[in-house]
Amino acid sequence: MTSRIGVMGGTFDPIHHGHLVAASEVADTFALDEVIFVPAGQPWQKSDQVVSAAEDRYLMTVIATASNPRFTVSRVDVDRDGPTYAVDTLRDLNARYGDKADLFFITGADVLAKILSWKDADQLFGMAQFIGVTRPGFQLSDAHLPADAPVSLVPVPAMAISSTDCRNRVAAGQPIWYLVPDGVVQYITKHHLYREPMAPTM
Ligand code: ATP
Ligand code: MG
Repeated sequence: MTSRIGVMGGTFDPIHHGHLVAASEVADTFALDEVIFVPAGQPWQKSDQVVSAAEDRYLMTVIATASNPRFTVSRVDVDRDGPTYAVDTLRDLNARYGDKADLFFITGADVLAKILSWKDADQLFGMAQFIGVTRPGFQLSDAHLPADAPVSLVPVPAMAISSTDCRNRVAAGQPIWYLVPDGVVQYITKHHLYREPMAPTM
């Protein structure tokens, strides 16, 4: 039997409840057997930004998804050298699952809007069904997608949370409880992530 597998790519710096609700909602809507979260190795769209170590982002993703039997985490992008491109992610996952699975690539409205600028965008549509989910602050529209593009648009409960906001809150000493899973708050505290560099003391 062919299984139906969601693929949730992201930087996950850190993973937050917006990611988890999107994955859960798409899993329900599309009767997915599993959603694989795939933390990027080096996100190519963020090459001008400082991104946390891949291992920290991978571990936070494992912690955040551990309690859901349908959620798993893949190292394919973390373990591949060079910038992470979705076309490589899908090629590796298709090679692993072959005919045994249909892949559903889940993206938020902001990412879906940029999809056509991606490396090998034309190839991507042959490798997975694309699911665009709503995200507060971004317009979800299929107006710019090719008419025959295999893209479904799915409304998910609005979570006005971003990793950027979570990082800024930690740097400012504000809480991120309930924006991210408890274990992720504790991991961030334990590993001193997202703190602004301490001013040198005399
Ligand atoms: P950053 O602010 O660092 O870009 P982010 O919150 O956008 O972080 P990413 O890791 O960049 O998180 O996003 C991974 C995927 O999850 C993308 O497809 C993005 O559109 C989607 N996503 C992120 N946050 C939400 C949200 N609150 N609701 C729906 N989708 C989301
Ligand atoms: Mg983002």
